[in-house]
Amino acid sequence: MKNVAVIGAGTMGNGIAHVFAQTGYQVNLIDLSQTSLDKGLATIAKNLDRQVAKEVLTEAQKNETLSRIKTFTSMEEGVKGVELVVEAATENIDLKLKIFADLDKLTSPEVILATNTSSISITKIASVTGRADKVIGMHFMNPVPVMKLVEIIRGYSTSDEVTNLIMDLSRKLGKVPVEVNDYPGFVANRILMPMINEAIYTLFEGVAGVEEIDTVMKLGMAHPMGPLQLADFIGLDVCLAILEVLHDGFGNPKYAPCPLLVNMVTAGKKGVKTGEGFYSWTHGTKDLIVADNFKK
Ligand code: NAD
Repeated sequence: MKNVAVIGAGTMGNGIAHVFAQTGYQVNLIDLSQTSLDKGLATIAKNLDRQVAKEVLTEAQKNETLSRIKTFTSMEEGVKGVELVVEAATENIDLKLKIFADLDKLTSPEVILATNTSSISITKIASVTGRADKVIGMHFMNPVPVMKLVEIIRGYSTSDEVTNLIMDLSRKLGKVPVEVNDYPGFVANRILMPMINEAIYTLFEGVAGVEEIDTVMKLGMAHPMGPLQLADFIGLDVCLAILEVLHDGFGNPKYAPCPLLVNMVTAGKKGVKTGEGFYSWTHGTKDLIVADNFKK
């Protein structure tokens, strides 16, 4: 395998393109507008500069990596001749079903179609294609160039051959793949999101404040960041969407999103990306300043 297409140049897509190109693959990066693609490329260049500064890469390797990435606003053009597509477009089920139905028509039948979805069923996505055995979840973690884990999700019909190939490919990218089955939230978010939701309930019920909750989890459980800070980084809208998938998928009230989370998302307080969540982020992400709503 030499040629890969990555759909979506946002937070995850540019990171995925970065690691494939750095490993030597030719990458076609596809997004809806040239502006999104330019932004994605600029992020890749900035992250590569950081690797050069840390002496992980040479300047020449950085330039070679960048030269392996081509950008496309047309999916039809971007998937020509590739052997694997990794989809990392916006987390929206209708959008992903449309993309996979189109990919099934635009690529030859042996091409593997992977998705980086955080929560949408791989089996559902595979059902709109005529190659369910070649559809698989490749769930990278954010930030992709740094985080080692890739959760490899087998849909109901994903073949052993495709699973093994994607597991090996992930190792080539310098990652540690873990194989899991396709049930709501897979493993990572099924365990993480109830913890984040419980932290929000703990705040909502006045058991403790934002700093206290995060400090207990950081110092008591050796987590590198507290669950409320992590929720702000992930995006509160994303957390809510994943909890809804767990709630709908299992029909168990233990996954019901905390009303405080619902209110914050409705009010547009979605965490780092909007400048405010449990913390205020208008000054950047270095210092932790509790948002005005949660100041004591
Ligand atoms: P994002 O909003 O940063 O980027 C999504 C990109 O997809 C945007 O640039 C958008 O223009 C593009 N896009 C939308 N429709 C498209 C289409 N039809 N064709 C091509 N491009 C299209 O989102 P993100 O955070 O990078 O998330 C992408 C995927 O990765 C989602 O499925 C998400 O659940 C998953 N994911 C996100 C994280 C995270 O921490 N952000 C972690 C793991 C997995």
